[in-house]
This record gives sequence, C-alpha cells and structure tokens, in this order.
Amino acid sequence: ETITIQELANRMAERGVDVIKLLMRQGQMVKITDVIDADTAQLLAEELGHTVKRIAESDVEEGLFDTPDTDANLVPRPPVVTIMGHVDHGKTSLLDAIRHANVVSGEAGGITQHIGAYQVTAPNGELVTFIDTPGHAAFTAMRARGAKVTDIVVLVVAADDGVMPQTIEAITHARAAGVPLIVAINKIDRPDAKPERVRQELLQYEVQVESLGGETLEVEVSATKKTNLDKLLELISLQAELLNLRADPDRTAEGTVIEARLDRGRGPVASVLVQRGTLHVGDLVVGGSQWGRVRALIDDKGATIESAGPSTPVEILGFSGSPEAGDRVAVVETEARAREITEYRERQKREKAAARGTGARTSLVDMMTQLKAAARKEFPLVIKGDVQGSVEAIVATLEKLNTEEVAARVLHAGVGGITESDVTLAEASHAIIIGFNVRAHKEARNLAEQAGIEIRYYNIIYNLVDDVKAAMSGLLPPTL
Ligand code: GDP
Repeated sequence: ETITIQELANRMAERGVDVIKLLMRQGQMVKITDVIDADTAQLLAEELGHTVKRIAESDVEEGLFDTPDTDANLVPRPPVVTIMGHVDHGKTSLLDAIRHANVVSGEAGGITQHIGAYQVTAPNGELVTFIDTPGHAAFTAMRARGAKVTDIVVLVVAADDGVMPQTIEAITHARAAGVPLIVAINKIDRPDAKPERVRQELLQYEVQVESLGGETLEVEVSATKKTNLDKLLELISLQAELLNLRADPDRTAEGTVIEARLDRGRGPVASVLVQRGTLHVGDLVVGGSQWGRVRALIDDKGATIESAGPSTPVEILGFSGSPEAGDRVAVVETEARAREITEYRERQKREKAAARGTGARTSLVDMMTQLKAAARKEFPLVIKGDVQGSVEAIVATLEKLNTEEVAARVLHAGVGGITESDVTLAEASHAIIIGFNVRAHKEARNLAEQAGIEIRYYNIIYNLVDDVKAAMSGLLPPTL
C-alpha cells in the first residue's frame, strides 16, 4: 500500500512542505506528488505527533458485500437481461417493443419512465428485468468496475444483414463474462431476411443454435411487427430456470448503480438494480464514495414504492452526491459506518488518480506476480493480428504451451487494429493485449493508458510466444 506525500499531509492536516522537510532531513529528496510506502508514512506521521491507525480495505469494507445468504431463504429471482448486437440490428427497437407490448392500456402509471432498466411479465407470469442500455460498452464498463449485473445476453442479429463486427464483439464479451446467450434473429419481416444464413454464420463463432443441434436458445423476431416477443420472453424464463437464479429477499439489500444523475429539483438520483435482499425507504445506503438515507424509491412505471426486492430496478432519492454507474450499493447500520466507508473510498479514488501514470496496472510482469499471489492459473489475452493466418498460428502455438497448471486463455483473437472494444474487454477481464503487425487506434491507446492496460506489439511470432512462455512459467509453482 502506498500514499502520496500530499495525501498523507492532507490526512494529518499538516502542510506538505513540513512532511517534505522531514524526509529531506533523513536524506531523501522528494516531491509532493511522490509516493511513499505505508511504513514510511506511519513513521512520518508518528514523528509529527499523530497516532496512526492503519486500516486495510478488508477492515473498512468487511461484511459490506457478499455476506452469506441463509440457504433456506433463497427464492427464485427474475433474470436480468442485456440486449447486445451490431448497430442498427434493432436492439433499441426490441427493447421498446417488449416494454410497450407489456404495458396494459389504461393501466395506471402506464407511462414508462426511463430509469436504466425495466421489468416486464413473461407469458408464464414470471418477471424479466431488462437493462435499458443496449450494447456491450455499458455491459463491459460495469464489469470492469467489478459489477456483475447481467444474467443473460440476448444477441440481436438482423436477418437481412447477418453476423457483423459488433455481433462478434458481443459474443466475445458475453463469453468472457460467462453469461449465456439467447439468439434473437430480428427483422424477420423483411423480404430479404435470411435467418438460415445467420445461423450458419454464428457457427463460425462457436454459437450453435438449437435448430442446428446446438444448445443456444434462438427465436426469430420482428421488433417492428412485434412478432414472437412472447416467445423471446418464454425463452428467457426458460434460460433463467436453467441458471437456477436465486436470491434471499429477507436480508439487507445489495445492488449496483446502473446510472445516476443530478436532478435539479430532486438532487442526486441513482438508478439501482437491487440484487439481493430488499431495499426499504429509510435505509442507509452507500454507493461508491456517496451515501445517504433512502428518501424515496421510484419504480420503472414512475410509481413511488416502499421497498424493492431482488432483480428490481429502482430509483433512489436521498444520496448526498451522485454515485457512478457500476458502483455497488449496500445498506449499512449507522451514519458513522457510512462515512467511514465513503471517506475511505474517496481517498482511494484520489490515490488511484495520483498513482496513475506511474505505470500500467495490467502489465505482463504485474500479471505474473499477481496471478502467482492469487494462485490463479489463467493467463487472459486479447490478440489482434494483421492476417487471419498469423492470428490462427499464434493462438494455436499459445494453446500448445498450456499445461495442467497454467493456461493462456485467449478471450478474443481477431484481425485488424486494436480498438476501444478490445481494451474494454481486456480491462474487464484483466487481460493484456497483444498486437501482431498491427497498432492500436488512437482512442484505444488513450483508453488503455487510462485504464492501465498493457498493449504489447510484436512482429515475430517467436518473440511473442517466448514472452508469453516466460510469463506463464513464472506462474508455475516450483517443481518439488
Ligand atoms: P440498434 O442500433 O441496434 O438499437 O437498432 P435500432 O433499434 O435503432 O433499429 C435500426 C433500424 O432498424 C431502425 O430503422 C428500425 O426501425 C429498424 N428495425 C428494427 N427492428 C426491425 C424489424 O424487426 N423489422 C424491420 N423491418 N426493421 C426493423
């Protein structure tokens, strides 16, 4: 653990120069932005007459998330679905069609609100929750922040257009997250629709639909003609049953921020997906580095509600400031605890920002040490190359390096320059990116820099394989 001199001074309410002077007296030439380790920081603080209480993350956040459920209380919960697919294949149309088909005309509060997610009732009476932001960008951004929200991905492929680059990206992202796909072949109403071709093309990406003998659920739909929307909802319920999704509604709530904004009249408004437990008006919540007492809960129909159970999207009023999409939300007992957690996170955020630029977070060397420490035996990689032949050769060669103890896991291998999507994928899965005879696009480079993702460039396969081999052998436990 490290801290900048500025931050240490702030925390002690001392002047930065005084801390620097102290270090200089010990013969160290430092700047205010330099980073020092925890032990040095403690010595300095004590020297300046402060009592030091070192708090580890595990202490502050202890018991906040993922506390065990009581098995006896687990009941089925609605699946949470994200719609992905290529641009213009009908993701937004499908989301709208499903929502509107479900609004009973004349129903009170039938006007739907955009709160980042909504719930509908499947024909069998079961609820399904849809995340309202289609596409893999939001999905992966959340995952990069440690949030796992989606249970099922509906992959929309337009029957007149077939599998396109973002279709492939969506498959890759869903797979990396371990989330099952349901294929919705859209625009089936079009005279030039070729659903059979879509099924065939998907095979190339190892998505084998049921009608071709595979296990991936599929349905032909038309968002504009509202064809087979019920069938899609049925398939989602079926997939949910296979996944045996359960949650305990009788515990304190946990969830994830889907989106948040500052409303002029109402203050910070956070749309949260409740994932476990039940959230009540009056609960004290923390989300990212913000906290507050729930003043009101508003559902996706705009109705004010008293409580929200598992898989329910709800707007929370009462946060002191806006948390960020992907922040996890939990209920705490006391304001003191809420303050302790959020202040700690605020500090962490500042320190991370300060530490940024001092080096990539996911580098080959880091990965070696981290994976070693975590006793993890997987080596996630994203590989981009100039031609299909070399990409295939690289993947095949890397796979040969796999042993029982350690394996290179190629999340995505493709032809072309390194894109932003490659970087978000790498970030979400803590992978490194390898470019073979290709470069990263400017936006991708910037994003990688921000996110601390290492991009390695090669033009000789041998060198590439050698480096990966070296890194992988570093993971291997010493032979006895
Ligand atoms: P997105 O980019 O994936 O969200 O796609 P949109 O939902 O914006 O749809 C792109 C275009 O395809 C729009 O002009 C839609 O009207 C059209 N579209 C969407 N679904 C269908 C469909 O089922 N049939 C037909 N014929 N057109 C559709």
